[in-house]
Amino acid sequence: MTDSPLLALYHSLNAHYGDLEWWPADSAFEIAVGAILTQNTDWRNVEKALGNLKSANVLSIEAILETSTDQLEMLVRPSGYFRMKADRLKHLCEFLELNSFDALKKMGRDQARGRLLSVKGVGPETADDIVLYALDIPSFVIDTYTRRLLERFGLYSSKLKYPVLQAAFHQQLPEDASLFKQYHALIVEHAKVSCRKKPLCESCVLKDTCPQII
Ligand code: SF4
Repeated sequence: MTDSPLLALYHSLNAHYGDLEWWPADSAFEIAVGAILTQNTDWRNVEKALGNLKSANVLSIEAILETSTDQLEMLVRPSGYFRMKADRLKHLCEFLELNSFDALKKMGRDQARGRLLSVKGVGPETADDIVLYALDIPSFVIDTYTRRLLERFGLYSSKLKYPVLQAAFHQQLPEDASLFKQYHALIVEHAKVSCRKKPLCESCVLKDTCPQII
């Protein structure tokens, strides 16, 4: 049987980049915090903010809730939008105090995702980061890199709504959290290496099959 277009793209990227072991974290909570901190910024900046939280012993639900807003803002400052992100972290922790990761996992994808989306500052991408990487439930993450690659690779318009693009992944891939994690990581890696804003098509691993070669 031939692979679906999205599964074929996965195999091409996977054969080239190999296992990327994303997301780097010591706990589900660290992943959830990283999912807020990574909004609108590079991972390098998230690492600095996470490093500050760890050094100050503030990487737990209780510690974040007990830390003053000023102090929390200072610790997450390297990730940008630090006032907004400190506020969002407080809201996330209030939520996680009442909804443990175990309880969310037992709810399954749709309910857990729905609960997360009710938290101030948690949109579809952040919710899926948490559902997929922290809860280990297959829920594909659609980000800017995904939209860019799908459009350039001639598969889907980048203007399609989040649920439409996500449904395409869910329909065409096996329901496998490890594969979803690796695929998202591959797309991010490929966007950094080749399919940048200004793409480096000449050295791209997909150049023989990509219709948008520039
Ligand atoms: S060939 Fe160019 S446009 Fe196509 S995926 Fe590679 S870098 Fe992106």
